[in-house]
Amino acid sequence: MSNQKTAIITGITGQDGGYLAKLLLSTGYRVLGAYRRGATETFEKLKEHGILEQIEMVDFDLLEFSNICRLVKKYQPDEFYNLAAQSFVAASFEEPIYTAQADGMGVFYILEAIREFSPKTRFYQASTSEMFGLVQEIPQFEKTPFYPRSPYGVAKLMAHWATTNYRESFGLYTCSGILFNHESPFRGKEFVTRKITAHFARMVVGETDKPCELGNLSAQRDWGFAGDYVECMWRMLQQNEGDTYVVATGEMHSIREFVLEAGKACGWDIEFSGKEDSEIGTDKKTGKIVVKVNPKYYRPAEVEQLLGNPAKTKQKLGWEPKVRFAELAKMMMEKDIERAEKGRL
Ligand code: NAP
Ligand code: GDP
Repeated sequence: MSNQKTAIITGITGQDGGYLAKLLLSTGYRVLGAYRRGATETFEKLKEHGILEQIEMVDFDLLEFSNICRLVKKYQPDEFYNLAAQSFVAASFEEPIYTAQADGMGVFYILEAIREFSPKTRFYQASTSEMFGLVQEIPQFEKTPFYPRSPYGVAKLMAHWATTNYRESFGLYTCSGILFNHESPFRGKEFVTRKITAHFARMVVGETDKPCELGNLSAQRDWGFAGDYVECMWRMLQQNEGDTYVVATGEMHSIREFVLEAGKACGWDIEFSGKEDSEIGTDKKTGKIVVKVNPKYYRPAEVEQLLGNPAKTKQKLGWEPKVRFAELAKMMMEKDIERAEKGRL
């Protein structure tokens, strides 16, 4: 087993952490799952993936430099995937300082630890299309100017440039994946797609009658499947040198369209009516209101649309997304109905 590679994955309890760990384990990696003590310690997602027993869980906090140094020094991993973050844009307006420290400074801590104790380690940083924010061109690619619209976007931009800078300054193998929104049945329930599918599933099994309350229905995103995107992260670390890559599907859809697709998988035919704050979505067959706008979910500054151009990634990494929008919505909806039926949502 001497050729076995070791990878540290931070954010192991999150959506992408589970999918990436599953992929790396299936190709023979030793996987160290870095998690913060006291948080999501039940490891539900990893259990549902059926991989918890195969992962060595290690203590990790983005804000604790000494802990990060010890971790990197002890394991000197071949690959370090930094997926940990305060990842929810809306929360970053309420917790901007924490978000900046975790998502921005935290990445400097990891890079410093690698530079000092394990310069051979290949590093992946989870960058985001939120860095494009108020988009300067459509579609966005690796050279599109950035214009973040939230403390989250600002903090991630700092981390993105730190990742590039440590590659250029110290010759480290670092990669930044500018990932557009990606979803799955393991997406956090605060994000709009999963909020919709989890709520609809509760309606389907009769747990609630209330409509799902949402904010801006006109926002558009380039939504892909997390299971496809983690494979691209791994590919980035198997090249001759580090680089920056956009990971996207090249297709854009609105929240309204996602509601329609999720509704279809529930057997509903949803029609929208009303304007702005009074807009509702009704199932034409039953007359039941399934969605309504609540301005409480509007954001102080909105990212209206994001659309990625993944041409470089396709060409250099030979990667293409497999799951498309309608299939993704159906997959998420069906899984949440299955969970709701078992009382495990
Ligand atoms: P997620 O489900 O929200 O997972 C975030 C992970 O970070 C969780 O495991 C969380 O642990 C951990 N974490 C939060 N604060 C931490 C801290 N201070 N110290 C250590 N761990 C901490 O996110 P995801 O959807 O898997 O996304 C993975 C990464 O990609 C994130 O960095 C996100 O910002 C970025 N990204 C995501 C998308 C997307 O559409 N999903 C797009 C672009 C970029 P707990 O369980 O303890 O909370
Ligand atoms: P983000 O792109 O990382 O912010 O991912 P989200 O899934 O949180 O939000 C995507 C888009 O959905 C944003 O433009 C939100 O304003 C919009 N949106 C509309 N209603 C909601 C809602 O109730 N919750 C969330 N999270 N987003 C909503």
